[in-house]
Amino acid sequence: MSFCVAIDGPAGAGKSTIARKLAEKMGMIYVDTGAMYRAMALFMLEEGIGQEDTEAMSSRCKEADITIRYENGEQTVYLNNRNVNSLIRTEEVSNMASISSPQPNVRKKLVSLQKELARNADVVMDGRDIGTCVLPDADVKIYLTASSAVRAKRRYDEFVEKGIACDFDKIEQDIIERDNRDMTREESPLRQAEDAVLVDSSDMSVEEVMETIMKICREKKRGI
Ligand code: C5P
Repeated sequence: MSFCVAIDGPAGAGKSTIARKLAEKMGMIYVDTGAMYRAMALFMLEEGIGQEDTEAMSSRCKEADITIRYENGEQTVYLNNRNVNSLIRTEEVSNMASISSPQPNVRKKLVSLQKELARNADVVMDGRDIGTCVLPDADVKIYLTASSAVRAKRRYDEFVEKGIACDFDKIEQDIIERDNRDMTREESPLRQAEDAVLVDSSDMSVEEVMETIMKICREKKRGI
């Protein structure tokens, strides 16, 4: 039996940082499902599919072959056999991902890939619908959140550190809009699963969040 941890929450809550560290500490595989929706969004952008053209998103998503490989312990996303890891972290792709992800055909395709990844391995998977839809029987479910101002500040600091010019208010606005789209969509909206533990990291360090979640995982493993 595999052991699975589901971490859901809004944009910039620190899910990927925590999920990656947790996977490393517990000898599990980290699956970043947002990266798959981002690769799909990149496909839409490169094909010139407009933000309003939901029909094209729905019909053409089958042309995007998205696969995940693990290279040096890191998840690498391939779009039609091309490594796209370095192309999917822009704001343009973030926004397109939240616009194309509600399409039922997009979700069907990526959710089945995610379930497959979790079938034979111990995974820490992060996203929006992991505890509610992809892994409803996950051993541990966490809903990780923080205030939009704190989340925008973290994203802003990341950009500054990478030397990328950015505007704090624009980042916060984008985050609020993205959350709104993710929470109000019809198909698998972002919400806290009934059996998920809420962790609000607004006033917590990465170490404190890690300690809280590790404790929950250890207790679960010991059957407490
Ligand atoms: O987590 P990340 O910011 O990389 O996700 C990008 C977008 O992909 C989200 O805003 C959301 O619309 C979509 N997504 C999703 N379901 C997931 C993961 C991401 O709909 N499990």
